[in-house]
Amino acid sequence: MSLSEIKNRIAKAEKDSGRAPGSVKLIAVSKVQPNERVEAVLQEGQRLFGENKVQEAAGKWPDFREQFDGVEVHLIGPLQTNKARQAMELFEAIHSLDRPKLAKTLARLAEELGHCPDLFIQVNTGEEEQKAGVMPGEADAFIAECRDLGLPVVGLMCIPPVDEEPSLHFALLAKIAERNGLKGLSMGMSSDFEKAIAQGATHVRVGSAIFGERDYG
Ligand SMILES: *Cc1c(COP(=O)(O)O)cnc(C)c1O
Repeated sequence: MSLSEIKNRIAKAEKDSGRAPGSVKLIAVSKVQPNERVEAVLQEGQRLFGENKVQEAAGKWPDFREQFDGVEVHLIGPLQTNKARQAMELFEAIHSLDRPKLAKTLARLAEELGHCPDLFIQVNTGEEEQKAGVMPGEADAFIAECRDLGLPVVGLMCIPPVDEEPSLHFALLAKIAERNGLKGLSMGMSSDFEKAIAQGATHVRVGSAIFGERDYG
């Protein structure tokens, strides 16, 4: 599928769910994709991208930023505290703030560096053992803790369990965001971004539907 088709589908989903045109941002998830494919999407005018590894992003985005104006890259994968400094220098937003230790590290670095990317707190809506994110029952307290540290928390993020109806998870995330006064909702991927938009997503993270399947070989 092409970038313009995905944009059309986003516009239609916004309209169908009574959302304002342009209220949903498309994050093109470029992880693992060959540079030619990423460059082609940059040529088509896309400027907002998502990566899930610090190292991988560090290897390609400084060059692309030199070639293209206005590029914005968001970290959507887990962040180790020992990579936090590098992440703060590489990304405009981090969608995977998920534990107090990381929050404290980011707060300390923000003070030192004088800036901090926008932060989304990841919530493990399916309470899955292998998945990152704070448990839904702990979200309110963790959001408050991050705010007390002075961190720029702009929203919440989730990755629903593969075998469950994603809309229920999106609705839960929207509810937690609303009662905490958070506007940003990073939710929805290639297979379910229209459902996420119906539940209020402000940022959809779409990879394979734009770039084609990832080849991990
Ligand atoms: C890879 C990834 C995506 C994109 O997945 P697709 O199914 O290719 O759209 C979205 N969010 C996160 C957190 C990811 O790691």
